[in-house]
Amino acid sequence: MLIRGGVVVDAGGERHADVRTADDGRISEVDLGLDPLPGEQVHDASGKLVIPGGIDAHTHLHMPVGTVRVSDDFVSGTRAAAIGGTTTIIDYVTVARGDDPMATVATWRSWAEPSVIDWGLHLTFTEAVPESVVAAGVEMGITSFKLYLAYPDRLQVDDGTIVRLMRAARSHGALVTLHCENGGAIEELRREALAAGRTGVLEHARTRPAVLEGEAVGRAAALAEITGASIYIVHVSSAPALAAVRAAQERGVDVKAETCPQYLYLDSSRLEGPDAIDFVCTPPLRDPWHAEELWEGLARGYIHTVATDHCPFWRADRRAGVAGRPGGVIDFTDIPGGLPGIETRLSLVWQGVRAGRITTADWVRLCAEAPARTFGLWPAKGSLAIGADADVVVWDPQRHQPLGAADLDMAVDQSPYEGMVVVGWPELVLSRGETVAADGRFIGELGWGRYAARAPLRSIGG
Ligand code: MN
Repeated sequence: MLIRGGVVVDAGGERHADVRTADDGRISEVDLGLDPLPGEQVHDASGKLVIPGGIDAHTHLHMPVGTVRVSDDFVSGTRAAAIGGTTTIIDYVTVARGDDPMATVATWRSWAEPSVIDWGLHLTFTEAVPESVVAAGVEMGITSFKLYLAYPDRLQVDDGTIVRLMRAARSHGALVTLHCENGGAIEELRREALAAGRTGVLEHARTRPAVLEGEAVGRAAALAEITGASIYIVHVSSAPALAAVRAAQERGVDVKAETCPQYLYLDSSRLEGPDAIDFVCTPPLRDPWHAEELWEGLARGYIHTVATDHCPFWRADRRAGVAGRPGGVIDFTDIPGGLPGIETRLSLVWQGVRAGRITTADWVRLCAEAPARTFGLWPAKGSLAIGADADVVVWDPQRHQPLGAADLDMAVDQSPYEGMVVVGWPELVLSRGETVAADGRFIGELGWGRYAARAPLRSIGG
């Protein structure tokens, strides 16, 4: 295919150029004035941007949570991702305590097989593991491992376990990603709230204050400093967390940070009112001023990526609760947490370009290039260089798209952005040269997506 007349935006800069994709699913030429070959399909991209397909480095598809399950599986979730301009996801495999990590990976891979776009996996440990498990993960292209500093009942690990995992990750060239909130303190605040009869949804945010996110980021960075590990803080949601990231970066710790659109656009006022339960996510939505700081962090480069933490639930499942009690949710501690977002990320971040908060180049870097580089997918992904996978999005900066649940393609009956209309949406999305979405409709095929084995960060072992 020849994509003609657009403005190409990638790590090579922003310039008028035509893009040719070859039969092997890779980019074969990027240049001005390319003429169509006999029989070649031509797409007119004049007035449009041509960018590398988005990479969403933080998703949860198919995942069981208590007695319920995330509402998107790998088919509906990756279809929606493609429509919104994302051509690669990296999904989190969570190994429950006592379970065999590699058996859990095999289960996730069987769920992911029908994906319509390429997919990679991270591996989350909820207890100490032998170094051989880290080595085996890296061997199969899983080069990032996640730990939780929160949820002591089922996910959190102690600081000693974090240190050991960081050392193992470092010696195998892997990245450690961390959910940073002080789980012990939060657990106590939750107990106090329940004991005092404060059971409403807003307590979800009140018992997870931003200062405890900042504390945990600072602790994670300190542990990275003493181990020499490379770390990545998932879903930074607040000013104290951002400040801790920045302080660590400024003293030379290799710490990268991610935020998500929900922390840029939504605030804790959503946790009051009749639909409050649909806005529960962790970390919680914050007071609005935190979002201003996060945009600043994106523009200045302290935050490297925007991912989604896509984790949708049917409204009925939200209200049934994770414990599956007959009467449903009885207090704020029983609500499945997470928001949909896999389809809307590129456009929501693009709105920041329209508002003058970040540049077009920032947008491409945050949504495609940086996640590719950070997670070992570069330069095959996140780039329009010759030889890269032809994961290409033709972006129509003028296209209007409402973000109501009925207007979108994710398998979920609520949208946190109901009533919002964004300007800017893909008109064409290619995955390895094949058209998977056009004019807002999915036209790809089941199982087109391939497993993306990821490269180690670098060899520093010894
Ligand atoms: Mn998550």
